Amino acid sequence: MGKLAKWLRMMGYDALFFEGSSDSHMIATALAENRVILTRDTQIMRRRVVTSGRLRAILIQSDEPEQQMRQVMDTLKLDCQFQPFSICLECNQPLLERSKEEVKDLVPPYVFQTQSQYMECPACHRIYWRGTHWQAMTRKLEHLVKG
Ligand SMILES: [Zn+2]
Repeated sequence: MGKLAKWLRMMGYDALFFEGSSDSHMIATALAENRVILTRDTQIMRRRVVTSGRLRAILIQSDEPEQQMRQVMDTLKLDCQFQPFSICLECNQPLLERSKEEVKDLVPPYVFQTQSQYMECPACHRIYWRGTHWQAMTRKLEHLVKG
């Protein structure tokens, strides 16, 4: 499910990942922030807050991240071109635009020479650019949607 959260962020969707925290904490957060719960846990689906329709939850069928992604995109009608490149994949924070000069000493020289658009996470200060890894992930997503 951690991988699923990263893919959602890659498309620009605000996605929190709960690991090891209590179900009630997750449910309270989802209710307070009007979130949809994606879970592999059938217990959560049986909770009154879910069966009554107060909280929307989707039971993820597969263990396979690509299958999970397809299910979520189909069910929630997500758009893989939503707002790519706008949320930190690690901390779910909206990225801020940075000029080439601002990142000069923060990225490898070959990246600086070849890339012109940069984004920075205000929380972890990771710098993002549309490099080959990014392109590979985008292609994989598009393939998933069409396939
Ligand atoms: Zn970050």
